[in-house]
Amino acid sequence: MVRAIVGANCGDEGKGKITDMLAKESDIVIRFQGGSNAGHTIINNYGKFALHLLPSGVFYGHITNIIGNGVALNIPYLLEELKSLEDRGVPAPHILVSDRAQIMMPYHILQDTYEEARLAGKSFGSTKSGIAPFYSDKYAKIGFQVSELYDKEALKEKVERVCEIKNVLFEHLYHKPLIDPEELYETLLSYADMVKPYICDVSAYLHQAMKEGKNILLEGQLGSLKDPDHGIYPMVTSSSTLAAYGAIGAGIPPYEIRQITAVVKAYSSAVGAGAFVSEIFGDEADELRRRGGDGGEFGATTGRPRRMGWFDAVASRYGCRIQGATEAALTVLDVLGYLDELPVCVGYEIDGQVTRDFPTTDKLNRAVPVYEKLPGWKCDIRGIRRYEELPENCRRYVEFIEKELEVPVTMVSNGPGRDDIIMR
Ligand code: GDP
Repeated sequence: MVRAIVGANCGDEGKGKITDMLAKESDIVIRFQGGSNAGHTIINNYGKFALHLLPSGVFYGHITNIIGNGVALNIPYLLEELKSLEDRGVPAPHILVSDRAQIMMPYHILQDTYEEARLAGKSFGSTKSGIAPFYSDKYAKIGFQVSELYDKEALKEKVERVCEIKNVLFEHLYHKPLIDPEELYETLLSYADMVKPYICDVSAYLHQAMKEGKNILLEGQLGSLKDPDHGIYPMVTSSSTLAAYGAIGAGIPPYEIRQITAVVKAYSSAVGAGAFVSEIFGDEADELRRRGGDGGEFGATTGRPRRMGWFDAVASRYGCRIQGATEAALTVLDVLGYLDELPVCVGYEIDGQVTRDFPTTDKLNRAVPVYEKLPGWKCDIRGIRRYEELPENCRRYVEFIEKELEVPVTMVSNGPGRDDIIMR
């Protein structure tokens, strides 16, 4: 059985926590897209961790954790992250890396950083992890697959060829020091040694695992609205954030993905620039940011304060639909217990017309939120384990959201810990 856990919003929905929780019953957890640019926060018996590249199954000894071919593989980062687990007493996890994964090169990170500086105020809010240059190069067919590290002659030749292209940019567009192909080649040889113990023909491994009836989790990063095709282009990421891409980024047939769990946040947050229809500002935003998540809404990778807003039913319904969600997990509901009333954005007014459909970016930029207000529950709901025990107004909020999403809300998360969950 293959299940995907993906975000329905802009990311930071709490996917890490839900994955960590559901991983327990899984045999395999796979990252299928993105890189070390976003972070999952996981709190368990070992402490609090921000995972960036590693799959969320690394805290369980019985799980095989896979970095799929769709991921931007930063090899030194992978080893550092593994080391940081070891340093904190987590037993060494079982890790496999696809021989078809492509390698994040040092020049991708430089290029990302230089480009952000060049764009200055007009930047896309990149995390400078090299993601956009990495995926651009992958599709321009000048990327390096892990397997290419082991043919020294071909590698050397390709490094020289690619450096020629990169150095034109570095010299003439960015006015920065050139890349030394010899040094880069040496770096790649060191990467070859680092990653060697983990390399695997992942699609063949998964083919066998599925035959044996293993439980497989596809772990998405970011969310629907950051998808390059279906998100808020161009304020998107550079690899698909959708469950459908799990088939490609892991190497399995699309029909094997039976269950798609969309993680939906009980209010909105976003990092970086871009349209955000239900955004709130000032004291109202500060208070929600301070109370939000676990210890405030600040980016797990960058530490940047997140932009805050009310629950957006238009965006979240679209986010679930484009994921193909078979169920939704509603997270961080506990945070909202301080409010007298809860505005929910139920429509967008665009050029005088109200719509419930999520539009393309040009129209989104002109959208004005239409709110419906629900009464607050004015108490702390952490620690509650049964749905019926939630205050009536809290259940009303959940059921209102469920109706708007048009997807069953099967889980309600009421705290950051593994056990802070209400199954419906
Ligand atoms: P992800 O990338 O989707 O995994 O999300 P992040 O880890 O960036 O952000 C989620 C934040 O919310 C983390 O700090 C989590 O510990 C925290 N969190 C997750 N679920 C809940 C919840 O139900 N309640 C509270 N208060 N915090 C939560």
